[in-house]
Amino acid sequence: MTTRYRVEYALKTHRRDQFIEWIKGLLAVPFVLYSQPHGVFEYPPSSPELGTSPPGSPNPILIKAREEAHRRYAEILHDVELMIDDHIAHQNDPDNPFPSKLKLLVPSIGPFFTRLPLEAAFKFQDRKRYISSRRFVSPSFNDVRLILNSAQLISVTSTTPGSTLQLATFDGDVTLYDDGQSLEPTSPVIPRLLDLLRKNIKIGIVTAAGYTSADRYYARLHGLLDSIATSVDLTPIQKRSVIIMGGEANYLFQFDPASEHLLSPVPRSEWLTAEMLLWDDRDITQLLDIAEAALADCIETLNLPAVLMRKDRAVGIIPSPPHIRIPRESLEETVLCVQKILELSSAGRSKKVPFCAFNGGNDVFVDIGDKSWGVTVCQRWFSDPETGRPIRGENTLHVGDQFLSAGANDFRARSVGTTAWIASPAETVELLDELGELMGKKMS
Ligand code: IMP
Ligand code: MG
Repeated sequence: MTTRYRVEYALKTHRRDQFIEWIKGLLAVPFVLYSQPHGVFEYPPSSPELGTSPPGSPNPILIKAREEAHRRYAEILHDVELMIDDHIAHQNDPDNPFPSKLKLLVPSIGPFFTRLPLEAAFKFQDRKRYISSRRFVSPSFNDVRLILNSAQLISVTSTTPGSTLQLATFDGDVTLYDDGQSLEPTSPVIPRLLDLLRKNIKIGIVTAAGYTSADRYYARLHGLLDSIATSVDLTPIQKRSVIIMGGEANYLFQFDPASEHLLSPVPRSEWLTAEMLLWDDRDITQLLDIAEAALADCIETLNLPAVLMRKDRAVGIIPSPPHIRIPRESLEETVLCVQKILELSSAGRSKKVPFCAFNGGNDVFVDIGDKSWGVTVCQRWFSDPETGRPIRGENTLHVGDQFLSAGANDFRARSVGTTAWIASPAETVELLDELGELMGKKMS
């Protein structure tokens, strides 16, 4: 899912894009007021104010319009940045019962782990994307998404005490490799991940793909695992700083050079959190039974070209025959329908076992737990050996593609750490280059 959904829903509780839409709306005002679409027709330019420029030289009307747009966009993003600072001050003050101004304007806004230097991030993205130079296309949803990503990267690599990145977690499909594919040895993302390890950053791959054995994860991630195994400059500790959290929060594997598939399973007793230990197998089965029945109903009602797939910690529908496309609207309808049925069931209402129903692009799955639990497990797994303290949210960055479609499994990670929303593996590569550059600057 690389683009924004334009499907309208009866139930909008899952919409996560209001903050981006709100910023986009603010930027639309100077675009309308300052953009000069007519400037393109006025060449060679001559104006009493700007004079006449020789042929071949840049059009001064356009330059002025670009500078003006840049100034106004930067000012607006600076003001939003201050509003986020104020929101952070509110969220960190338990004695203040009043909502922040930002909360009043964007009620769906969540907590922030770090401040967001939006003005600097805008200037960076404007150099790359020429946002201020555009006269016909206003700052878009994607522009704002990328500005937010850059702001988050600047923040987790800033020199403010306590704000260094310690743990990077990655979704699998669409983030590290194309949907349903594997991380092949030639993938440009691999050297960037190795570079993070070299900088002593821990890596968790937090994927919904749920397999009980190492060979299945090796099949999906062999390019990365083989490169780590054969690397001559990574230390043994750096090599062991890679874990796979599968089924969102259900199966943990650690990199292990001695094991056949370079991964060894970690028994649940070694990593379940105190809350997760309370998830009773009978409740899990009951929840999955209800989900399975609801999914079967959707196959019937929507005449989906799909079959059920039941696992011990998940249940889903996958296309049948395998390469047929299920309409996006049908996938979204299925997610919302199953989610509502589960929420209203006695198992769901008891809230004993959390779950995540999501649209995986051409399938729908309901997993036990969600990526907030998965990332939490990674934070605990890499706890400080001396203090025993888990890695904190402000020192964690989760990179994923699912922040908007129904269920949006990567969005759940937003509650336990900072996040970056990418739309393709190529964007992940760009993001990691940006991160590498910022970390390099910090170290130099
Ligand atoms: P992710 O993008 O890495 O989180 O992977 C999501 C995809 O993994 C889904 O869209 C499915 O195609 C696939 N998958 C395989 N097994 C499972 C499972 O047990 N639960 C959820 N997704 C699964
Ligand atoms: Mg994904």
